[in-house]
Amino acid sequence: MNQLSWGTPEALRKLLCEVVSWRSMTLTEGELNFPSKVEEKLQGLDYFQDNPTQLLLHDADQGRRFLTALYKHPAAKETIVLISHFDTVNTEEYGDLEAFAYQPEELTNMLLERLVGLPEDVVQDLKSGEYLFGRGTMDMKMGLVMHMGLIEKATVEQWPINLLLLTVPDEEVNSAGMRAAVPKLLELKEKYDLTYKLFLNGEPVFSQEPGDENYYVYSGSIGKIMPSALFYGKETHVGEPLSGITAPYIASFLTQRMEWNLSLQETVMGETTPLPVTLQQKDLKLEYSVQTPYRSSALYNVFLMERNAEEIMDIFEKVAVNAARACNKAYIEVCKEQSVDPVGEVRVLRYEALLKHAINKFGTDFIEAIKAAIHANSEWDDREKSIRITDALMIRCQELAPAMVLLFAPPYYPAVNSSNDEIISQCVKYVKERGLAKFELPVQQVHYFNGISDLSYVNYQDDGEGWTAFKSNTPVWGTSYSIPFDAMKELQAPVLNVGPLGKDAHKRTERLHMKSAFEEVPALVEGMIKMMINVERKN
Ligand SMILES: [Zn+2]
Repeated sequence: MNQLSWGTPEALRKLLCEVVSWRSMTLTEGELNFPSKVEEKLQGLDYFQDNPTQLLLHDADQGRRFLTALYKHPAAKETIVLISHFDTVNTEEYGDLEAFAYQPEELTNMLLERLVGLPEDVVQDLKSGEYLFGRGTMDMKMGLVMHMGLIEKATVEQWPINLLLLTVPDEEVNSAGMRAAVPKLLELKEKYDLTYKLFLNGEPVFSQEPGDENYYVYSGSIGKIMPSALFYGKETHVGEPLSGITAPYIASFLTQRMEWNLSLQETVMGETTPLPVTLQQKDLKLEYSVQTPYRSSALYNVFLMERNAEEIMDIFEKVAVNAARACNKAYIEVCKEQSVDPVGEVRVLRYEALLKHAINKFGTDFIEAIKAAIHANSEWDDREKSIRITDALMIRCQELAPAMVLLFAPPYYPAVNSSNDEIISQCVKYVKERGLAKFELPVQQVHYFNGISDLSYVNYQDDGEGWTAFKSNTPVWGTSYSIPFDAMKELQAPVLNVGPLGKDAHKRTERLHMKSAFEEVPALVEGMIKMMINVERKN
């Protein structure tokens, strides 16, 4: 008799649909409630009936929680951490089908009845009957469901290895869940005397380019950081434009140089990061008036492979110095032509220099009070708070204006890569060979998962310089945002992502390839874990 509840493709499909029906968009009530539902499911397993203290909910932030479930073999130290996130993005784009976004079977049937207006590849996939549609099917509740199936099987068959299932909230926004889980992973390591061998995420396969249907495993995860700037000019009246300098004018020089800047693109092992792009550029003046805008801000998105925060700040500063030089030159020419005196030269300074200047001028207590007043605005997110803190300091230090103040706005996902790790090479080799032999599935290795993942917060490699630059130039550091760099550095084990094939994450046509999700990938991951057990035994 099969003692497994989740041991067949049909059972996994049913479990997935149930887990998807627990709506859990980031920063909603559903996200708060979700982990206790997973807990309840896992409580149904005999193993957690016998070992209830190994199944736990822990606090993240804002009432959100993450869950850990440890299957511990009495003789094993080696531990694989199975990582997933349970939050999803929003569902407005489903329009009149929004109510069904969380009901995969119904949604798939309804879409099949209204093919008009859907892209051709979606129509093909619907007609093939091979895909299940719905919010979170692909990204990434299937990853969690697969891990639940694996842990059940490990407990019933008593695999001689430990599995630690970790599922977290907030991956889609700030990864508050994973950042809170990192110290907990260290705690559990101590408490149960675990040796972490592998951090295995189950994010779905993302296409490398439109129309790409290849199956990939990922031996790393791309990094992302947001160098940002506050532009502080000098106010004037529209009737006397040259008695001041506007922030948009200053900003235009930097934005023009940051966007698509090749010096911020990296190519590593044949893979290339997408170019930087502006995520937001705005005025800090709230309403229309004839006073010219003299304070504005910009956030730029930069992807990373080998670089850290310090290196990005250095490059950003160079770009900004060039931009300021060009800005000053153009401005002085206009002043000459119009026979007016310039109001000053735009300078470039890092947030840390501004902070130091402000502390010297006003003292630490006063500056802390200014920061606290900004943090009291709960309607502002970390990005807004970062800019507002910088702005509040500049308002009080106008002797530094006109200026571009350079800072980092959260989130920061450090890049991580384990392609050169021996265990990872064995795992990738196994999945490639087995995929082809058992499922005629060609498997390709990608060195950096291109969808951003929580793997960024483990296996951190840095001599300390990189994160110092991040801490000291992130205005909200230590209050509303922090990254447990020290703990991350202690979590030294290779990373790998093996998840199901899907398409169109974050779109209304999000869908999961069922054979990949319910048969191929669970079998490949199970086999890979067993291969690791055998290698361990031989050693
Ligand atoms: Zn995801």
